[in-house]
Amino acid sequence: MIANVLTIAGTDPSGGAGIQADIKTFSALGAYACSAITAVVAQNTCGVRSFVALEPDFVAAQIDAVFEDVRIDAVKIGMIANAGVADVVADRLRHHKARNIVLDPVMVAKSGHSLLAPEAVAALRDGLVPLATVITPNLPEAAVLLGRQDDWTAESMQTALPDLLSLGSEWVLLKGGHLRGSRDSTDLLAGPTGITPFQAPRIATANDHGTGCTLSSAIAALLPGRDPVEAVGGAKAYLHKALAVSDHLDVGQGHGPVHH
Ligand code: PLP
Repeated sequence: MIANVLTIAGTDPSGGAGIQADIKTFSALGAYACSAITAVVAQNTCGVRSFVALEPDFVAAQIDAVFEDVRIDAVKIGMIANAGVADVVADRLRHHKARNIVLDPVMVAKSGHSLLAPEAVAALRDGLVPLATVITPNLPEAAVLLGRQDDWTAESMQTALPDLLSLGSEWVLLKGGHLRGSRDSTDLLAGPTGITPFQAPRIATANDHGTGCTLSSAIAALLPGRDPVEAVGGAKAYLHKALAVSDHLDVGQGHGPVHH
């Protein structure tokens, strides 16, 4: 059976991140891609210029249109933009009894541009995180979710896992890529069966735009019918391969996209 996977996220007209990266990832992993847009973003490989968030009612209308017609096997949530959008996404996903929800708590793009209004953090944390099967924060995002300083060490990554789980998702994938001074990048997956580390050597490439979007989408594409540990392992392997060949692309002058 081919999984139908819905992404609820913002756009990237240069094709490297957001909805466009999500659709490419779903397709590459053999899933059927549906998409509901939260915000239209003017951005390229050099950075985010500006965005327009869609009206919350219109985001809800897109989600309803999909769920009332299509059997959705998994959902990826990316850029949410503001509290109004966060609230309707939570409401509609509850209404439609969505399963296999992967939440990438997108806050700031690599270029430094904010993609989430600061007052929306509470709506994301309290409304969306508890619906998620897996959340995929990087270290700066985890610090914001926990209201702590962004001064992570390998040890504090471990000890923060219970606090992150207490926010209400079933699983947490804490991504260690931002940890300074290590040659490897270790992500920790914590959930009902304990903690699984995923270690990978860092790949030297400037083409890493959209890596977070790609990883969370790959998990969503692989979750239906699989254990989360297996889905995250498969998603990490997919991202590793996509990053390793990203230098084959000649797209833009900044952080180029990964190659799906
Ligand atoms: N644009 C959108 C719409 C996103 O959802 C995200 C991150 O999730 C980004 C940009 C961030 O891209 P980058 O990998 O360059 O930080």
